[in-house]
Amino acid sequence: MLDLVLHNGRVLTQAAPPLAAAVGIRNGRIEVVGRAEDVMPAAGALTRRIDLAGRTLVPGLNDAHAHIWKIGHLLTTMLDLRGVAGIEDLIARIRAFAPRLPDGAWLLGRGYNEATMIEGRPPTRLDLDRAAPDRPVVLTRTCGHIYAVNSRALAAAAIGPETPSPVGGIVERDEAGQPTGLLHETAMGLVSRVMPPPGADDYEAMIVAALRHQLSLGITSSSDCGVSPALLAVYRAVDAKGALPSRVNVMPLRRVDGVADPVPIPERFESGKLRVDTMKFLADGGLSGATAALSVNYRHADQKGVLRFDRDELLGLCRETHDAGWRIATHAIGDVAIDQMLDIYERLGPHPRGLAHRIEHFGLPDATQLARAASLRIIAAPQAIFIHSLGRNFRNYLPESFLSRTYPIRAMLDAGVRVALSSDAPVVEDDNPLTGMMAAITRRDNEGHAIAPEQAIESWEALYGYTMGGAVASGDERNRGSIEAGKWADLAVLSGDPLTVPAEALPEIAVDLTLVGGQIAFER
Ligand SMILES: [Zn+2]
Repeated sequence: MLDLVLHNGRVLTQAAPPLAAAVGIRNGRIEVVGRAEDVMPAAGALTRRIDLAGRTLVPGLNDAHAHIWKIGHLLTTMLDLRGVAGIEDLIARIRAFAPRLPDGAWLLGRGYNEATMIEGRPPTRLDLDRAAPDRPVVLTRTCGHIYAVNSRALAAAAIGPETPSPVGGIVERDEAGQPTGLLHETAMGLVSRVMPPPGADDYEAMIVAALRHQLSLGITSSSDCGVSPALLAVYRAVDAKGALPSRVNVMPLRRVDGVADPVPIPERFESGKLRVDTMKFLADGGLSGATAALSVNYRHADQKGVLRFDRDELLGLCRETHDAGWRIATHAIGDVAIDQMLDIYERLGPHPRGLAHRIEHFGLPDATQLARAASLRIIAAPQAIFIHSLGRNFRNYLPESFLSRTYPIRAMLDAGVRVALSSDAPVVEDDNPLTGMMAAITRRDNEGHAIAPEQAIESWEALYGYTMGGAVASGDERNRGSIEAGKWADLAVLSGDPLTVPAEALPEIAVDLTLVGGQIAFER
């Protein structure tokens, strides 16, 4: 007998046939999908019934590239600076937040974006000293690739006029040679290695807060792209006590900024809720902060971004990881970083377990690189949502020839590259997959400007990218991504049909109910 039946709905199966009316669930898995007459006879007196009343049922959504613990950090103890209007607003927010912390404790914030601040510049050490002179302050730029820190934090990290920039990073200085407080890429490690790390309880609170937030958006599976050994241990412990509210693909880092030696390869692991078999690397920086490695100068500055690795070092680390049976997921946005990764993936040759490697973001590939990626079976994890939320940065910073191929998702699909859509949250504040679908379809930013509109995809392709695309990218396609008999009953009930509403109305669709393994995990 079935445990649960959802009936009288529009079931978008993401499989053949594409439309059904009812789903029957037993022991956490989908047992039957079809017309009411196919499903209802298997329901008994004790079967719970949910009348969808014409609403839409989709596979649980997947955020293929997110930073779960960082989303949770902003939901718990970190100052949220997304949407800050300017330097004075930022200072006021820090002053208001500081009294919550113990005397002298580090104040951590995240989310400023100079392109949307009145002054058009990032905060410096001097601004942050005004805001909080008596404690170290570390603000992470919205992209996660630049820190702005105050004098206390510079002193704690022993960064002075003589401190050299580390390989793959920049300690920014003023004309007098004094550090400005801005630390790019690997230079962030000079500070992060002296910051008091969160404890296991703090990490657990962050993880659970973030996953509950995602469940409210219909997201039943997600990735934490880049975790330290301490955080990985917390994930394992939370999973062991059955406390993960949804499914997570945790990607450990092999190279942690500010730590000299690579992290040893941990044990691969897979349970129902937790998967640990993908290693994360970062080949370059971010586009919105102009640290992604381009072959030409950015429009607004005499620089081309940063490659974070010496090529041979990265090849060596990837070789060990690949030979140990791991999938590799590498952040590569600029065309120079993409070339570096395509070369490395090509040299690695066939995977010992038959897995395909991933390129995260894949922001600015040209046609030749797309063809190479397809022939290497690479899976791409781009963020259409960046077009929506970071459009102004792209328009201000990218030369025209690059702007017209920014996040070219149409071209990726046409080239035969498999695509998993995602948010990279908290890099963007709005991580609703329906907003991401809208951006992939309309290619408009939040000020109404179109960015590479010929790279638009269809609504069904966008939904597929947020469901099956993500399942394929994690190697979970046998268990999730579509509504088919035998798969986990991970489902979302939507107030409207995302394949038929006008694209602009997608974010107005509400998530009424989210199920993980046939259990209600969120209810509006
Ligand atoms: Zn990321």
